[in-house]
Amino acid sequence: MGLIIAIDGPAAAGKGTLARRLAAHFGLPYLDTGLLYRATGRRVLDAGGEPADPPTAEAAARALQPDDLSRSDLRGPQADSAASAVASIPGVRAALLDFQRSFGTERGAVLDGRDIGTIVFPAAKAKLFVTASAEARGQRRWLELQAKGIDADLAEVTAQVRVRDQQDRDRTAAPLVPAADALTLDTTALDADAAFACALDLLRAHRGLG
Ligand code: C5P
Repeated sequence: MGLIIAIDGPAAAGKGTLARRLAAHFGLPYLDTGLLYRATGRRVLDAGGEPADPPTAEAAARALQPDDLSRSDLRGPQADSAASAVASIPGVRAALLDFQRSFGTERGAVLDGRDIGTIVFPAAKAKLFVTASAEARGQRRWLELQAKGIDADLAEVTAQVRVRDQQDRDRTAAPLVPAADALTLDTTALDADAAFACALDLLRAHRGLG
């Protein structure tokens, strides 16, 4: 199996940007696993269903098609909370596991999510747990919305980020928790360049990766 770099952490901690840059640096494919849960939640909403209903959400996860991952409506508060709701259902997680594992198995990969280092690739050579204060993460999500022309309230966006974290941490199926052998990177005071530089330093120093 090729090199697997597992990147986990709470919402808006900077995982996606970092994962993309590490993938380019190491010449590996990249998978944003949050898209799988987002697309599952979106399918349920499209059909007028309830994302927290296990049979409905499981059927949506099993029916997922590659095109679903490139939909333009996978971001935003409604998609966020539908993703978090379907993600707490064990049958949904089981349905999405094979895809994630086969994505990484042949050539190696960088994957980001909540349970990559704990469940999807527990034997990954490199695991990073990327975190930041809730305020910093709320602000980043708010800036992303602003950049898309969506005028949201900062306090409300930060509160939504906290609620989603709580749901992801408290669920019994694959809760958000750092793997025992994960290297922690706190990006509260770091911009994307500094976070990338710190991640490379950690991987070099502790995992011998160049
Ligand atoms: O990473 P992103 O914010 O796009 O993930 C959306 C939601 O999908 C998360 O709040 C979480 O509930 C779920 N998720 C997960 N496991 C993953 C990736 C995402 O439970 N590996």
